[in-house]
Amino acid sequence: MRLLEYEAKNLLNHSGVVVPRGSIIRADASTTMPAKFPIVVKSQVPVGGRGKAGGVVIVESIEELQAATDTLFKLDIKGYTPRTLLLEPKLAIKKEYYLSLLIDRETASIQLMAHGEGGVEVESQTEFSSWQLEVGDNDFSDIAQQLADLYGFPDDAPVLKTIVEKLYSCFVVNDAVLLEINPLVKTADDDYVCADAKMELDDAATFRHKDWDFEDKPAEANFVTLDSKGDVATIANGAGLAMETVDAVAAHDMKPANFLDVGGGANKESVLRAFTRIMEYKNVKAIVIN
Ligand code: GDP
Ligand code: MG
Repeated sequence: MRLLEYEAKNLLNHSGVVVPRGSIIRADASTTMPAKFPIVVKSQVPVGGRGKAGGVVIVESIEELQAATDTLFKLDIKGYTPRTLLLEPKLAIKKEYYLSLLIDRETASIQLMAHGEGGVEVESQTEFSSWQLEVGDNDFSDIAQQLADLYGFPDDAPVLKTIVEKLYSCFVVNDAVLLEINPLVKTADDDYVCADAKMELDDAATFRHKDWDFEDKPAEANFVTLDSKGDVATIANGAGLAMETVDAVAAHDMKPANFLDVGGGANKESVLRAFTRIMEYKNVKAIVIN
């Protein structure tokens, strides 16, 4: 299941990773307004690219904040409108980096990926650095030095080592399949802060986490990514039919990207959400609707 940014940041904070001190506001509740500006107002939708879609707004006053919240609660981003907005003090950004952890199914290991140029244009970047991590104890000293060199601040290896250790621990204890920090920010004060976080947890581990309670769980429960590089996406109605659809794709020597039982109560919104999610797979050439 995919977490919203503020939910991911809560988990990061628990693991000791530095995130901005934020607060959330909901569409249906009155809120205490922050006293200090500028702040960043961020739409909490479970998709990336919010910055480019106008979902990240910097405001300088209560009036601007009011206007921004009115706009953001109505702003549709890739088929989602937010129930929650995240308010954070604006960071003084010196540089933005990319850092992520994910399960690499092919090698059955956890992969660390990094790029020296993070931010909203990261998708156009090539040549990511990556490291395969052992499951269990890791000594991150060498990786941290390579990361510090990549980020252009070789002396930052010790602080980056701590960050990678904590991210790794956050990833493992929460049974994550993806934890992406983009951007990891180096501030004007030379601190590293996770300015954005995208986190996906393993649905199969739900039984181990009785406390899991996230906004998006019900809507996404029947959507499973099988291979994000797959070439055929599937939408089916009913779990058995959805499984058979996946099998049929594989039987024809194509790679199914996902399993989706869109459910008996499927409506325009849920089908649109399914398509939106599928559009994120870069290699999909066809969608089988069964
Ligand atoms: P995304 O577009 O959905 O990935 O949303 P992000 O949270 O990554 O925000 C997009 C961009 O907005 C970032 O790459 C930053 O350049 C900028 N941004 C986000 N938070 C802050 C902040 O606190 N301060 C400043 N100055 N810029 C921010
Ligand atoms: Mg981002």
